Amino acid sequence: MRFLFLGTGTSAGVPAIGCDCAVCLSEDPRDRRLRTAAAVQFTDARGQERTILLDAGPDLRQQALRAGLRRCDAIVFTHNHVDHTFGLDEVRRFNAVQQSPIDVWADDHTMDHLKRVYRHIFERDKNVNDSFVATLIPQRIEDRAVAEGSAINLWGALFTPVRLLHGRLPVLGFRIDFEDSIKAANPGAPFPLAYCTDVSGVPPESWSHLYGLKTLVLDALRHRHHPTHLTLNQAVHIAGELQAESAYFVHMAHDLPHEATQADLPPRMFLAWDGLVLGN
Ligand SMILES: [Zn+2]
Ligand SMILES: [Zn+2]
Ligand SMILES: [Zn+2]
Repeated sequence: MRFLFLGTGTSAGVPAIGCDCAVCLSEDPRDRRLRTAAAVQFTDARGQERTILLDAGPDLRQQALRAGLRRCDAIVFTHNHVDHTFGLDEVRRFNAVQQSPIDVWADDHTMDHLKRVYRHIFERDKNVNDSFVATLIPQRIEDRAVAEGSAINLWGALFTPVRLLHGRLPVLGFRIDFEDSIKAANPGAPFPLAYCTDVSGVPPESWSHLYGLKTLVLDALRHRHHPTHLTLNQAVHIAGELQAESAYFVHMAHDLPHEATQADLPPRMFLAWDGLVLGN
């Protein structure tokens, strides 16, 4: 049972195209950040390996190859932005390898975006030629489920949607935990874990879902204020309030060199990096 950081960078990625700053030119591999995305892997109660993706950004193909992903059972989306959705086409390879469709979970706003952008997938019968497109099963995350904090059960993995604010856009974070039978076999696992990327604020009703975590994954863009992302200081403050056993920051811009930034962080708080795996 494990959690994989597939990408930890902001929307433009690091290095950024055409930038000669110290981080973009850095030789530290932890300063090379693909667009933020993650995966949860575990063995279900029947002994089947499962991989659930958190978002499907434009670097998905490269991330899947690097992490050696061989299947994708479901994709759970946080929001509709391009840096989190423009790799959805790539999952057709998983359809071909595993010979099964893939569930796609998203709230109304994100699902409407996916259906508009990926008409060739969701309205396949309208394609001029029947070409190789992904086979997806849309699954809506209802507002009511978010309000009630009811979990989506994915083969024993429990994903509870948590409302977060990304500027004025309501997005979803997820508290991820497991049914007891699966958890019992994985004592060192990093769950319960909350995945909260692309956040500028945590609404009052959401805090209760974010206590008692082993791991908090949280947006931390840069030092300077940004209207739709937490600064590193804001993220450290929220992580301190939530008292998770460990906090890992993601969605970093090229303003944050890994080594120097890490050196200034409080205990049990870390800048994540591409390829980092928690659990085993
Ligand atoms: Zn983003
Ligand atoms: Zn740069
Ligand atoms: Zn975003």
